Amino acid sequence: MLYAQVVLPLAQPMYTFSLDEGLAVGVGDAVVVQFGSSRFYTGIVWSITDQKPQYLRLKPILKKLYNSRLVSAKAQCLWEWIAEYYMSTLGEVMRMALPSLAKPSATSFVELDERSIEPPMEQFVALCDELCTEEALAEYALKHSRRAPKRVELLDTIADAALRYGCEDSFVPRRLLNISSDQLLSLSKKALIRVEQRPVVLRPSGEVFLTPTLSPAQSVALDAIRGAHNADKVALLHGVTGSGKTEIYIHLIADVLSRGESVLMLVPEIVITSQLVERLERIFEGRVTTYHSRLTPTRRGKTYLRLSSASGGELIVGVRSSIFLPLSRLGLVVVDEEHDANYKQSDLSPRYNARDMAVVMGKMYGAKVVLGSATPSLESYFNAMTGKYAYVELKERWGEGVLPEVVISDTIRSVKRGERKTHFNFDLLRAIERALNGGDQAILFQNRRGYAPYIQCRTCGYSPRCPHCNVTLTQHKATQRMECHYCGYNIPTPSVCPNCDIQDMALMGFGTEKAVEEISRLFPNARVERLDSDTSTSETAFKRIVSSFENREADILVGTQIVTKGFDFGGVATVGILNADNLLSAPDFRASERAFQLMMQVAGRAGRRNNRGRVIIQTSQPKHPIVQYVASGDYHGMALAELAERKNFGYPPYSHLVRLQLRSQDYELLRRASHYVADLMRQKFGGRVMGPVSSALELLRGEHRSEILLKIELGASMQRARELLSEVVKLAAQNVEYKGVKVVVDVDAW
Ligand code: ADP
Ligand code: ZN
Repeated sequence: MLYAQVVLPLAQPMYTFSLDEGLAVGVGDAVVVQFGSSRFYTGIVWSITDQKPQYLRLKPILKKLYNSRLVSAKAQCLWEWIAEYYMSTLGEVMRMALPSLAKPSATSFVELDERSIEPPMEQFVALCDELCTEEALAEYALKHSRRAPKRVELLDTIADAALRYGCEDSFVPRRLLNISSDQLLSLSKKALIRVEQRPVVLRPSGEVFLTPTLSPAQSVALDAIRGAHNADKVALLHGVTGSGKTEIYIHLIADVLSRGESVLMLVPEIVITSQLVERLERIFEGRVTTYHSRLTPTRRGKTYLRLSSASGGELIVGVRSSIFLPLSRLGLVVVDEEHDANYKQSDLSPRYNARDMAVVMGKMYGAKVVLGSATPSLESYFNAMTGKYAYVELKERWGEGVLPEVVISDTIRSVKRGERKTHFNFDLLRAIERALNGGDQAILFQNRRGYAPYIQCRTCGYSPRCPHCNVTLTQHKATQRMECHYCGYNIPTPSVCPNCDIQDMALMGFGTEKAVEEISRLFPNARVERLDSDTSTSETAFKRIVSSFENREADILVGTQIVTKGFDFGGVATVGILNADNLLSAPDFRASERAFQLMMQVAGRAGRRNNRGRVIIQTSQPKHPIVQYVASGDYHGMALAELAERKNFGYPPYSHLVRLQLRSQDYELLRRASHYVADLMRQKFGGRVMGPVSSALELLRGEHRSEILLKIELGASMQRARELLSEVVKLAAQNVEYKGVKVVVDVDAW
């Protein structure tokens, strides 16, 4: 008899089951086990031994699921690393890693059918039989070159490519032809060519891809990255917006794919990457697979299964959870927009940062790593400055592109001079007008959705708040309701003050919905679209808005931070940042860095093709250093100043920040528990402990929250810190007095 340690998708340690040798189960396989009296789970076999454990009665493993091993030896290392570092359990890692193959519990097991998984396909093109000899083609050319020279040229291109690339049976992979879909369609309608879908194959001799020609500056950057990789270093590519970082990634990706190795390209959010994916597909076709949470569970499951038996040559473009995909022969990990907060999973355990895991995977898998951004995180910049990463900088935009001009518009002065209408300074209105008159477009960025962030009674000062989350309710005009942006709680907008019964409620501040209303009134002929999580509830809705702006069916796009992300719109002459103040005043040690990144990123949407764009920042703090750094585009200045601050206060990257959050519905209990835990921590960590304080969201979904921060300075042992912290958490959990208080640990918290 054998015994297997099995990871179950629970926040608990592994359990041992007996294993009948006839089952042919190996380490890394998915199995079905019974747990408790009537629950069944999918588990992952973590190890197998023939030593009988102490327990009296062991339940057997019931069934093996799937033919392929689901968790490779390397993935086991990664899971263990994550569980340990982020103080989580393997079961929790499993829940992230195998979401749709292993439900937390089930009474029946519907296995995905491995045979129904289709291999990736790509298009091949060949000349029709009548044209496949050289003489036939020459004859055709002679006959048609006068009337249809373009057609003849295209046919020649295909024939040449078939020869040049030594294509079997004259079928050329479509990706090697510089021919548009329309042109292909018209040739095939005339029956001059044949188009076939064929499975992607790995060619042992190496595969060819048509990569874009790089500018001299891009070539220098590419060589520098290759140099870093040869020296086994992570490369940080700091390239201004529009510098063509993607083109550089494409070259690196092509190197790796042509060797039959795989690439993982991480992106912060999938909805904003359709332009990127299209560009990659034009070059790598069927090798590209996207992975994100908007895919159906079945689709994600099938992708996972397909990859676990694939042999390499895959390009995955995916969000943070893609680090868990089974990629054999991983050669390269690209982290695009590496500064983005979405790489950190904050709400669920394991609270991992996929950007940091990319670096860990690089070491573990022997893969090369590139982190890219126009505004690198201070952590990565610090690692580059201290020589841990290689630093590669691209200072100019590609082609004729120039960086936009940034104008700071002083809101208080504008008000005093009567140069402001509702929420728009004349500086901004003039810039919008100029863009529209020139047939160009404008983007307006406001970091709040809805109509007004809060309403307030002008007589007694009362504002309605969410009873579960203790934040002000945001007015939504379209629905005439006020909504909590954390839990969704909503009420009809009161016309009379619920507190003093006087009819004097006023809308305060403004969100995107109101900005759209006002800008439409000021520019009645402009077509205005809004992009935020209210208008893009589905991917279809999102794509409609983006493509209408791309196709110039809209003139002004108003949106939340989603408009700051990597869009490449050609016609944007003006970008307006409607209120920089609320970015600068966020109560968070990363506020300055984030404000800089958001403003630089949204500014980067201006003037990407030909004309120089203009960015107007509306602020009541025109002298604020961050505003000044944005205006001069001085990333290094910002980074050095911020790093000095961080050093002073011992914040990351000069320390690891661990956040303990305590939660309870009972406020008094929480308060006592927080002090108890903080005292325990002070005994172990001394002055490294801060708090307890109320969380930024003191009350969320009916739970009170408080937190204790722990700063572990660089050079101190994180492992020791985790051990000590585990002891604290255990003591708190065992203390009956604080029963019902949840403790959540977030390592490298944001
Ligand atoms: P970034 O991601 O650095 O902001 P992109 O990679 O989106 O920049 O490039 C900006 C624009 O310039 C894109 O439209 C891209 O197609 C174009 N571009 C950049 N480099 C090249 C190149 N070498 N050849 C052709 N087009 C390029
Ligand atoms: Zn709420």
